[in-house]
Amino acid sequence: MIPAPLRLALDGDALVSNWRTLATMSGGAACGAAVKANGYGLGAREVVARLAAAGCRDFFVATWAEALALADLGVTVCVLHGVRDEDLPAALNVVTARPVLNTVQQVRRWREAGGGACDVMVDTGMNRLGLRPEDVAAGLLDGLDIETLMSHLASADEDVPGNAAQRDAFVALAGRTPARRMSLANSAGIALGPDYAFDLTRPGIALYGGVQVAAFEGRIRQVVKPEVQILQRRLVPTGQRVGYNATWTASADTELAIVNLGYADGYLRCFSGKGGAHVGELALPVIGRVSMDLVALDVSAAPDLAEGDWVAMDYALPETAALSGLSQYELITGLGARFDRIWA
Ligand SMILES: *Cc1c(COP(=O)(O)O)cnc(C)c1O
Repeated sequence: MIPAPLRLALDGDALVSNWRTLATMSGGAACGAAVKANGYGLGAREVVARLAAAGCRDFFVATWAEALALADLGVTVCVLHGVRDEDLPAALNVVTARPVLNTVQQVRRWREAGGGACDVMVDTGMNRLGLRPEDVAAGLLDGLDIETLMSHLASADEDVPGNAAQRDAFVALAGRTPARRMSLANSAGIALGPDYAFDLTRPGIALYGGVQVAAFEGRIRQVVKPEVQILQRRLVPTGQRVGYNATWTASADTELAIVNLGYADGYLRCFSGKGGAHVGELALPVIGRVSMDLVALDVSAAPDLAEGDWVAMDYALPETAALSGLSQYELITGLGARFDRIWA
């Protein structure tokens, strides 16, 4: 394999530390891990192996293809989008995964197929996936082998009355179904406190360094650090312009490094003239437009940096979200396939 000129430095200790922090904040509830979208872009297999070794027992993916990719790891995987007709053969075959049933039709399909253990999602006010509480109260689930009854919070990262309303609607279902456990909280939901933890929490973004609420500040560590290699170093004399559409003009002689990173890697145009990198304490601002595969950095402050050297892009999720206008989810799930993913 040829090493790529761009890589993600992935901090396995930080990942495990974040999970332990969230598990502690979950109190008596078990703490799972959302690993959909290939572990939010980090690599689901690597994430699952590390968290399973740390004691995590409940993993969540979106689709059956994602579940199949983890089938040999010996962990139980819940498939959040449930079971379509197309999924049934896989769903009945993969003993390590079970569907989260979301609709009346999915419940019927699973019953008729004799599917066995499952989870169920009930909608308590988000109007995304899930059964209506009325259907559940009317006995739709009677006789099903349900491990976990779930619901999902719409605004867990905000202090709004909707959170308590959703929690109350969920509490009202306790004991009304055959489910052995109940689960409501995603990452930010864990920070809402013990009333939201129930039996199992389902963090995703905070495992990977997302900090959406004050309770995570200083406790959740950065996991993903993009690093890029310098392809060329050049002097841009005063008055010359840089990059597509010549949006930046040198007001003084400026030393640039052209690095192997661009919007095809998930480093989007919104970082033009705004993003940056660091070498040690030295800040290296992005100059001009982000191209498809290339970015220019001002390295005037770093005379020793040369072609072939590596620099670390600034990519702490909360700060980078504030800078770019992208969400912390978009920032990590968008990092592309061209990065080598290197775990330490
Ligand atoms: C993605 C997802 C999670 C994890 O959410 P985060 O906000 O990333 O913590 C939990 N539960 C469900 C149903 C999800 O779809």
